Amino acid sequence: MTAELLNGREIAKDYRAGLQSEVEKLKSQGIVPNLTVVIVGNDGASLSYVRSKNKAAEKIGMESSIVHLDEDTSEEEVLATVEKLNNDDKVNGILVQVPLPDQVDENKVLEAIAPHKDVDGFSPINIGRLYTGQRTFVPCTPLGVMELLKHTGSLEGKTVAVVGRSHIVGQPVAKLLTDQNATVTLMHSRTQNMVEQLKNFDVVVSAVGKPGLITGADLKEGAIVIDVGNTVVDEKLVGDVDFESAKEVASYITPVPGGVGPLTITMVLNNTLLAAKWHNEDK
Ligand code: NAP
Repeated sequence: MTAELLNGREIAKDYRAGLQSEVEKLKSQGIVPNLTVVIVGNDGASLSYVRSKNKAAEKIGMESSIVHLDEDTSEEEVLATVEKLNNDDKVNGILVQVPLPDQVDENKVLEAIAPHKDVDGFSPINIGRLYTGQRTFVPCTPLGVMELLKHTGSLEGKTVAVVGRSHIVGQPVAKLLTDQNATVTLMHSRTQNMVEQLKNFDVVVSAVGKPGLITGADLKEGAIVIDVGNTVVDEKLVGDVDFESAKEVASYITPVPGGVGPLTITMVLNNTLLAAKWHNEDK
């Protein structure tokens, strides 16, 4: 079998076109969704990621700005910046790019973002809402994974291995898959015989950050493979899955780059649009 490619760039393009027309509708009512991204320091990869979110927001007609703080900014100043954005009625979505410099406590800053502007969905309140089935911002990468999986058919009754249990990717992905009536096994670094077990699963979602962790020989014939992993090797971005061997066994597979990544940014826009809509509805 040669797998069908889940082309994240194409899927994201279609999804963004839908968002753009919703932005236009809101604008006709005088509402302009605004995404503001805070970055502390000058890390090249973070800066380029922030700029791409900014550009993507503007491309679909949203307002977007970057608050760029110096590397040596104190925790107090970062918190004051977040507070100012919380109180700015024009700002719908706030993202704080992580990692933050050592002098700034990341958890404190993420908790300081007003839950109704936390479009990354990382604040404890929004995580709690997700697990209790309430309206919330679902974290962007897990939402992107689910959007890709929509293109493979129903998940009902499928067995899924989610490899990686972080709070921002693996665990919310497992929760969202369970909501779709899949039967989910969450695997991690202490899972025994992880690779040998994978042959039992209809779907494998890998979110680890170890290139070559999973190869075609480990997969069930016809498995659906979503590779969230992002690791830079020899200046190239690679996933956790050995694409060449896996594509011969899988029914669907995401490439890296061009798979999950474009959907993650798209879901930042999706959540910003929701923030603007909800803010208007809840007035
Ligand atoms: P993380 O917090 O480092 O979590 C990695 C997870 O992998 C942990 O749960 C860890 O287990 C598990 N793990 C490590 N070695 C393993 C092994 N040999 N077998 C099975 N599980 C193993 O990472 P993250 O933030 O979730 O990100 C995961 C990957 O996704 C990274 O490559 C990251 O760059 C990428 N990512 C991509 C996007 C995107 O948009 N494409 C977005 C976010 C993240 P323990 O819990 O036992 O330590």
